[in-house]
Amino acid sequence: MTTNDILYSVRELVVEYHTRVGDLNAVDHVSLDIKRGEVLGLVGESGCGKSTLGKALMRMIQDPGRIVSGELWFNDVELLSLSNEKMRQLRGSRISMIFQDPMTSLNPVQRVVDHITETIQVHEPKTSDKAARARAAELVDRLGINRNRLDDYPHQLSGGMRQRVMISLALALRADLVIADEATTSLDVIVEAQFLDLLKELREEFDLTILLITHNIGLVAELADRVAVMYAGRMAEVAEIRQLFSDAKHPYAQGLLKAVPNIRLDDDELYKMPGSPPNLITAPTGCRFHPRCPQVMEICAQQAPKFQEVSPGQLASCWLYQEHPEKAGQAA
Ligand code: SF4
Repeated sequence: MTTNDILYSVRELVVEYHTRVGDLNAVDHVSLDIKRGEVLGLVGESGCGKSTLGKALMRMIQDPGRIVSGELWFNDVELLSLSNEKMRQLRGSRISMIFQDPMTSLNPVQRVVDHITETIQVHEPKTSDKAARARAAELVDRLGINRNRLDDYPHQLSGGMRQRVMISLALALRADLVIADEATTSLDVIVEAQFLDLLKELREEFDLTILLITHNIGLVAELADRVAVMYAGRMAEVAEIRQLFSDAKHPYAQGLLKAVPNIRLDDDELYKMPGSPPNLITAPTGCRFHPRCPQVMEICAQQAPKFQEVSPGQLASCWLYQEHPEKAGQAA
């Protein structure tokens, strides 16, 4: 892989939220590459920092949160060193985000057409109203919404249609990277399946790179090329989707896969991961997973393992593959 294959590179990113009881370390020295043209799934339990990471990629962390350190490379541009104005231009035009609940992202008193034309004209001020409307009509047609609905307000559309409008905003300027943050959570299973099919088609047609943030590992299996597993603000494992499902390395990733409901198993056979995610104001020392890990060793509570390649294309942060390689491969 050459550096040209990488669209977005996160290096040692640290994000904190200031709270009355202390600083919450939501993203802790995370490094991650997003390859051009891939769908990368970002999974983990609620509160693991995956949405914070997604927002940080857009430089959208708001007070009381802040990016403490790290580097965000998009193509050859380091985003943390950009002015607010330059970042505003890039956001929406080159990197776009689809949020969980379109009702909170779409302005309820603005018609669908105004959302799309405004997005186009803010970034391309020379585009006439007529041309912007024509582009909006083409886009919604392509996304399976009748162009007659352009003058509707968001509340007049179904949940699935609103989600399509959100995609049209992402596509209006042909963003290179689309970050979909729990984008299907508010959809029923049938609309969710349609949404996934649409994303697959659009990915080919618009040459999109997609970061799919979700707690739903089944969704990732359906759509992603690679998957990044986060735990308690840190990257636990990154692997190709087949590698992860056939040979997950990190004990947390192994537990996550075993906890996926399987129609062939009785309910009482379903694996339940012991314990609960830690409080990130007082995160555990060493490996943050150690209080829950079935393979914990003495060193795990003392030092954090490095996040490093453990087999070709597969990275994990676990002492099993560093100080104690002889134990590697003994599944939990
Ligand atoms: Fe478990 Fe230790 Fe690996 Fe952490 S470093 S996942 S505690 S074995």
